[in-house]
Amino acid sequence: MASATMTPMTRPVVNTARRRETDILGNMLRSADRRQRSTAFSEGCAAAPLLRCPQPRTPMRTHSIWHDTYAVPDRPPLREDLTADVCVVGAGIAGLSVAFALARAGKRVVVVEKEQIGSGETGRTTGHLTNALDDRYLTLEKARGRESATIAAAAHSAAIDFIEEAVTKEGIDCDFTRLDGFLFLGGDDKPELLDEELEAARRAGLNVSRVDRIPDRGLDAAPALRFPRQGRFHILKYLAGLAGAIEARGGRIFGGTRVEKIEGGSPAMVTATTGKTVVKVIVVPG
Ligand SMILES: Cc1cc2nc3c(=O)[nH]c(=O)nc-3n(C[C@H](O)[C@H](O)[C@H](O)COP(=O)(O)OP(=O)(O)OC[C@H]3O[C@@H](n4cnc5c(N)ncnc54)[C@H](O)[C@@H]3O)c2cc1C
Repeated sequence: MASATMTPMTRPVVNTARRRETDILGNMLRSADRRQRSTAFSEGCAAAPLLRCPQPRTPMRTHSIWHDTYAVPDRPPLREDLTADVCVVGAGIAGLSVAFALARAGKRVVVVEKEQIGSGETGRTTGHLTNALDDRYLTLEKARGRESATIAAAAHSAAIDFIEEAVTKEGIDCDFTRLDGFLFLGGDDKPELLDEELEAARRAGLNVSRVDRIPDRGLDAAPALRFPRQGRFHILKYLAGLAGAIEARGGRIFGGTRVEKIEGGSPAMVTATTGKTVVKVIVVPG
């Protein structure tokens, strides 16, 4: 099993060198700022001369290593009214995961996406799956109590298992791998924070340990906490596989279709536009 180390600004560089033995997940004791992480993605792309850096789908938006290395086939717009058990709005990881679970449960699912699969935040993730919280178990436990921290640990662990199971059972080729994650102190963090987080993560039920150095990395960032059995994958390849699994079960996915209005009731109604055409998904749970 490969090991993993963490710091936000170096994540994309490591992502461009995915064949390495080790990987970087992020410096978790300093909550990663999204704006900073997006910037890092752009820099990561520019720093990888072997990679194609085409124009993003939408000008002036950050784009990622994932978009540079894989194109999810476009889905057509919805052009006529449809009836479904469930209408999912948005084809990011949240929408497609829900749609996949529902399709697997035998529901008629329609996914409506204003751009294309993975066009939103999901296509800009660093692609790491971790049960170490950006906001810390210590913080969550203080704010919401031990039970909430335990639930969060179980939920994050289950999410990685869900993805691993989907990858395995659906045969999704997305470079998924399990690996260790390492959490180390940020520049301004107090040394005792590491031990406090270690204890809080353990109280939440995680098998976390303290290490004196991060293996295989020249990082001056030890000691660190080791979170075993984290995950890493190519997010767009994964979404493409998930989309295929949804469609194989009769689900329908539409791109270029913007939801404008959602009305509850029975039936519920989702109104969307495709260019100047107005279409409806009538939701009648079966
Ligand atoms: C730089 C960066 C790094 C990250 N790294 C990690 C990481 O390593 N690990 C991790 O777990 N998380 C990470 N995250 C967070 C993670 O990417 C997000 O939590 C996740 O992608 C959110 O998924 P989503 O499906 O909710 O949203 P999105 O992917 O944004 O999907 C929402 C979709 O809805 C569509 N949509 C919106 N409005 C409409 C409408 N009216 N009609 C139709 N469609 C619509 C959008 O086009 C979009 O495709 C990172 C985020 C960033 C920015």
